[in-house]
Amino acid sequence: MTKEQASKLINDLREKLNEWAKQYYVLDNPSVDDAEYDKTIHQLIDLENQFPELITSDSITQKVGGIISDKFEKHTHKYPMLSLGDIFSWDEFINFNKQVAKVTDTENNEYTAELKIDGLSISLIYKGGVLQKGITRGDGKVGENVTTNVKTIKSIPLSIPSKDEIEIRGEVFLGKKEFAKINEERLLNGEQLFANPRNAAAGTLRQLDSKIVAERNLDAYLYYYFNENNPINTQYESINQIKNLGLKINKETKICKTLEEVKSYIEYYTKKRNELDYEIDGIVFKLNDKKLQEEVGYTAKTPKWAIAYKFPAEVKQTKLLDIFPTVGRTGKITYNAKLEPVQIAGTTVSAASLNNAEYIMAKDLRINSIVKVKKAGDIIPEVISAIKDENFDLLPIWEKDVQCPACNELLEKTSTEVDQFCVNFNCPAQILRSLEHFASRGAANIVGLGGQTIKKLFEEKLITNIADIFKVEEHKENIINFEKFGEKSFENLIASIKESKNNSFEKTLFGLGIRHVGSKTALTLAQIYKNIDNLKNATYEELSSIESVGEVLAMSIVDWFKIESNLQLINELKSFDVNFEYLGQAKNTESTISEKSFVITGTLSESRDYFKDIIELNNGKVIGSVSKKTDYVLAGENAGSKLTKAEELNVKVINEEEFFAILKGE
Ligand code: NAD
Repeated sequence: MTKEQASKLINDLREKLNEWAKQYYVLDNPSVDDAEYDKTIHQLIDLENQFPELITSDSITQKVGGIISDKFEKHTHKYPMLSLGDIFSWDEFINFNKQVAKVTDTENNEYTAELKIDGLSISLIYKGGVLQKGITRGDGKVGENVTTNVKTIKSIPLSIPSKDEIEIRGEVFLGKKEFAKINEERLLNGEQLFANPRNAAAGTLRQLDSKIVAERNLDAYLYYYFNENNPINTQYESINQIKNLGLKINKETKICKTLEEVKSYIEYYTKKRNELDYEIDGIVFKLNDKKLQEEVGYTAKTPKWAIAYKFPAEVKQTKLLDIFPTVGRTGKITYNAKLEPVQIAGTTVSAASLNNAEYIMAKDLRINSIVKVKKAGDIIPEVISAIKDENFDLLPIWEKDVQCPACNELLEKTSTEVDQFCVNFNCPAQILRSLEHFASRGAANIVGLGGQTIKKLFEEKLITNIADIFKVEEHKENIINFEKFGEKSFENLIASIKESKNNSFEKTLFGLGIRHVGSKTALTLAQIYKNIDNLKNATYEELSSIESVGEVLAMSIVDWFKIESNLQLINELKSFDVNFEYLGQAKNTESTISEKSFVITGTLSESRDYFKDIIELNNGKVIGSVSKKTDYVLAGENAGSKLTKAEELNVKVINEEEFFAILKGE
């Protein structure tokens, strides 16, 4: 290859990788899978090694990948937060160790073996025993100040038993169960799923709304310790210091004194990883001795004394038995793969989503072809590609459906959307999906009306639209004779339908299934407009000026209220006494501050409304003036007469840190 050819290829690769990195780090929404990204960056590294004169300091191979968002205050790291070099095989570990040996003069190096937690880096700064800051890695030099969000993480203490200035670093992550729960909710809300726990954790920690962060149960394992008053000698000692300060460390961490021990650690966790409660994407080996670490040194992007051994994604081959479309409640067509069952990462996989027709055509997937399958983030099954062997060419090229599989209506696709839609409002599949959606947990939450029951009621034509749900009592004789459905189930169903009439407005609004109105938007709208009549009268201009709504959503809401049958539905639901008033959010009556009264005074790090919301959501109340009955005065800087009054009356005065500590039950 000539230098000119290499230069062009290098530019193309950099452009491609920069775009992927932006999707991944800024939007927390990767556009390609990690294996593809890793393959491409290694292709670039190889080319740059062949033509070192073409290396530039802004190449993606020379800098830490993250990008800093303007949403957060910036913070310059005292010590750079670097990435890690990666390897994928035992031979590469031997090579890495040889490089280290050039400095240490021995191949018998002692390493700590730590699981590589699939989350995002965090730096915690404690001063005077109190958590001062939580900062993301950002571009390695400058990170984002996400302190308020970090304070909601239960495993990160707000205070530690040391007054030194201490920086502790580690990984914020979401457990497998929590990750699955978040994606389940996103699916219900019609929101895009997170591709893996790391993106979900990053998307959560970099949320502007700390209340959402608090709901999501982020967790943290810590592994780096910096304290200029108490320098330590080994990485393992760092971990012990962190543990002694009351922070969480990963208990699988070990010291490997020989290469054999390194090898068996890799073998053991390659097998064991599926049994852990959290996702790992590899193992990090760090030279244990700190002095030797400094001698071995750093590149601009990574320490040379540590390496990430990455697990190969478990990829299996199986037969693609069928490709079939399903219709969502908005008419959106999703294609699905039926696969010959295959074991991947601990479970049997027999189906995978194929998204839309363009996705299938781009991969040229064909029915009866052999395909490679893996689990994205080791959780969601994904068809990677078809094996293009001689049999493949004999198979017919897959063609997209042109008619709705449920009602035969011609499918439509606009130039701005990648998906096909069935636009028939009477499509039975759409109606059934919208009934399921109305009854679901995040919406009306009608417990007895699960998938099977609703399907049966729909097939029997006892429920043909949402309003019919409130008339099922009329069909008692019919329903109690359903298979596995006795008198008792019927009574439970009726009770739960009745109860749903008292839901707060946002739940019913979400249940109506207005396109793009997820549960979060429904809550925002309910809080602003208080009831359905006010919302119905809201103009496009008004709606689109709401920060979290925007133009597309505003148009969708306005259009929905223009349709006569929708207005009829609301009237019918009102005639059954379904509530359309906002009643306030459900409160956490189990909270440590439940029924406690607070007075807020002085300047805090967030607005008073912010704290008021947290207190009220936890069933506490905020009052205007201090009396003997006040439980707490939450005082910020420059608090005046209310603070004096509290001291006179012996009312407990707390600062922000103490407030969060009480809330967390510390
Ligand atoms: P990395 O994730 O490969 O490794 C570095 C990170 O590992 C550290 O910053 C730290 O947060 C984490 N880590 C977890 N446990 C650790 C432990 N015990 N000790 C030390 N660190 C630990 O590197 P990166 O630069 O953050 O990201 C690069 C990777 O991200 C690539 O390999 C690629 O797979 C993925 N990526 C994917 C896309 C995409 O489009 N799919 C885009 C960009 C990056």
